[in-house]
Amino acid sequence: MLRNFQELLADKVARVAINEPLGHHNSWQIGGPADLLVEPENQTQVVEVMRFIQDQQLPLVVIGQGTNLLFDDAGVRGVVIKIGARMGSIDIADTRIVAGGGAWVPQLARLAMRAGLSGLEHCIGIPGTLGGLVMMNGGSHRHGIGEHVVRVTIVDLDATIHQLSAAECRFDYRYSALQERGAVVVEVELECPAGHRAEIRREMLRDLRERRRKFPRKQPNCGSVFLSTSAMHASVGPPGKIIEEAGLKGLRCGRAEVSQQHANFIVNRGGATSADVLQVISRIRSAVRQQLDFDLRCEVRYVSPTGKICPVDQVADRMFPAG
Ligand SMILES: Cc1cc2nc3c(=O)[nH]c(=O)nc-3n(C[C@H](O)[C@H](O)[C@H](O)COP(=O)(O)OP(=O)(O)OC[C@H]3O[C@@H](n4cnc5c(N)ncnc54)[C@H](O)[C@@H]3O)c2cc1C
Repeated sequence: MLRNFQELLADKVARVAINEPLGHHNSWQIGGPADLLVEPENQTQVVEVMRFIQDQQLPLVVIGQGTNLLFDDAGVRGVVIKIGARMGSIDIADTRIVAGGGAWVPQLARLAMRAGLSGLEHCIGIPGTLGGLVMMNGGSHRHGIGEHVVRVTIVDLDATIHQLSAAECRFDYRYSALQERGAVVVEVELECPAGHRAEIRREMLRDLRERRRKFPRKQPNCGSVFLSTSAMHASVGPPGKIIEEAGLKGLRCGRAEVSQQHANFIVNRGGATSADVLQVISRIRSAVRQQLDFDLRCEVRYVSPTGKICPVDQVADRMFPAG
């Protein structure tokens, strides 16, 4: 059956793999195989794949670099569409940037800086794709990419192409309405004001230095695991501090560990499973609930074997109710 699908898709899309290990496609290096993983190289190929998925009624998961995802050890029984470097074009004219959903965010930030455009300084150290960044409204230093979005081109589940304005994306803290739509982000138009190139560069270098100093770099991780809102900072403080003060730095379940360097990171010590990570998350949430009566929510998203995506905490609590 899978071979049939692979053959049917082979002339529609640049790359089709069967039983592809998802551990090769996320920064935690965790996850079982995907039945099918396809890597389109243009919008037409995305439309073709979406038609195929609709005709065959297959579960679908869209990914970029997998830097904000926890795949299940059982993998995905369906099709994973990876929007990566093949759709990573970046074009800059005056203050407008038009880039593919697979554009590499640090490269985008660097090219904006070279063109003397400001606003993407906070993205320089985010190791994902533009599609993933827009979906998550990712950013740092209290910024989100949504601040600069003019238009997002998507291919919907029914294989139709739409252009959404920033207002239609309803960007909020680490949220966009795209998260509920399941569509594929194929292109993004950004508006970035002109700035001082040297100043922009300085700010980027400062951000990269800070990241090198604070974040674990040698062990696979998925960046910050728990959400860090300003309301939370005001009431209980940032998640890293809360977790550290709860005495959980270094907590281990199987091969997953709360980073010794930054407590809002969970690192894979080699061979960690999704269950190991889910248990660490559940233990942290349960300890923080007991000590501070506060519900830590996850920024990182879990991908189920049937292709459903949700914040990891929802699954961690179900799998490990006692923490
Ligand atoms: C070391 C490290 C540091 C990080 N620092 C930050 C930070 O400072 N700020 C921050 O916000 N994040 C940070 N992250 C998390 C992550 O890099 C961002 O969320 C990033 O934007 C995710 O992009 P991605 O391509 O990896 O998306 P993925 O992880 O592959 O996917 C994330 C979500 O977007 C969806 N998606 C991805 N691409 C598309 C597409 N083309 N169309 C439709 N849906 C899509 C997926 O279905 C999923 O729901 C960090 C991660 C790491 C490992």
